[in-house]
Amino acid sequence: MDCIFCKIACGEVKSRIVYEDDKTLAFEDLNPQAPTHILIIPKNHIESILEAKDSDLQTIGAINIAARNIAKKLNISDFRIVSNCGKKAGQSVFHLHYHFLAGRRFLWPPG
Ligand code: 5GP
Ligand code: ZN
Repeated sequence: MDCIFCKIACGEVKSRIVYEDDKTLAFEDLNPQAPTHILIIPKNHIESILEAKDSDLQTIGAINIAARNIAKKLNISDFRIVSNCGKKAGQSVFHLHYHFLAGRRFLWPPG
């Protein structure tokens, strides 16, 4: 499958890896929108949260635990995690990912 994040997950495409466990991988975003901008992905291909199956429950949960572990590892107490689902919501890579953003103030509601 021609998926850039699958290629990153298997090491075919290089990335700056920040965190890894058996179900997830986290790496620095190529085009950071905050001083800390990390992408957390499931290692298996899930197109978006809409395509997640009930059997992906453990993997989806693991993404939040990964966010906690990253925050603790980097000593970050204030951060935002967000997943864009669908083109109109801003999704451009169709392999589920959560943006982990920190190091500046964020608007609420988001733009
Ligand atoms: P989306 O727009 O789907 O919510 O987020 C996709 C993110 O992936 C963007 O922030 C973009 O900068 C990042 N991205 C796209 N291609 C690559 C890549 O090859 N390597 C890394 N590290 N990030 C990428
Ligand atoms: Zn993929």
